[in-house]
Amino acid sequence: MRRRVLTGAAMALLAGLPDARGQGAVPLALRGAQSQGGLVFARAPAGTRARLDGKDLRVGEDGRFVFGFGRDHGAEADLELELPGGLRERRRLAVARRVYDVQRIDGLPPRMVEPSEADLARIKADSAAIAAARARHRAEPDWDTDWVWPVIGPISGVYGSQRILNGQPRRPHYGVDIAMPTGTPVVAPAPGVFSLAAPDMYFTGGTLMIDHGHGVASIYAHLAGLDVAPGRRVARGERIGAVGATGRVTGAHLHWGLTWTSVQIDPALLVPPMPRQPPAPG
Ligand SMILES: [Zn+2]
Repeated sequence: MRRRVLTGAAMALLAGLPDARGQGAVPLALRGAQSQGGLVFARAPAGTRARLDGKDLRVGEDGRFVFGFGRDHGAEADLELELPGGLRERRRLAVARRVYDVQRIDGLPPRMVEPSEADLARIKADSAAIAAARARHRAEPDWDTDWVWPVIGPISGVYGSQRILNGQPRRPHYGVDIAMPTGTPVVAPAPGVFSLAAPDMYFTGGTLMIDHGHGVASIYAHLAGLDVAPGRRVARGERIGAVGATGRVTGAHLHWGLTWTSVQIDPALLVPPMPRQPPAPG
């Protein structure tokens, strides 16, 4: 009688333990930044079920799925996979830690200007509209592409940075800012369907959102012009609007944000490094 020889992966599987080598019995391809703020593209056999940190993930019919890590995600994530035949595997994914720019500014005079009742009502309506657009979960995996920058230009704000004013932590900056003059064309960094087009939101001014499927949504803020209406499909590289200084800003720039479900992702991790800028004239 021949003895069956089990590989380390199979033994780990039988024992219900994570495979320390990170290679398991379930074929799985991962692409993307496994770090705080990172979005990861995954492909497993068709029919696989997946859970991340105990939450069910949407897996496409062809086995493609996507997940992301928030700004302050812990050092490890727990990915559970189950094949159609019932074969199960649990993987621990290392999530790289990042260091964010945190500025503490004390001794500021108390804020003199509070939003009016009318402004507060607008702010509430705006955030409800943005949350509704983010809650969409189209089945098409439009996120599975090579993303491009929506605008080429100097980066003036990065993901995760935070100010602490008079000891009060403000909401971290979720997105990347690209400073370019009003009127500079903005293109779609990946295909999708427009889920929101609002010409005048309180904070974000001219605002567009694109639904890239499976809960991945991008937002473009402070636009001077919006070239599109909700519901329309957009191709990668297609012009969607123009940079502006609308909403609460100090100068013209594009704010580009990205979310997976309600998790804030760093869009800069999806694109190649920003191309070098031509030197300023003079
Ligand atoms: Zn911004």
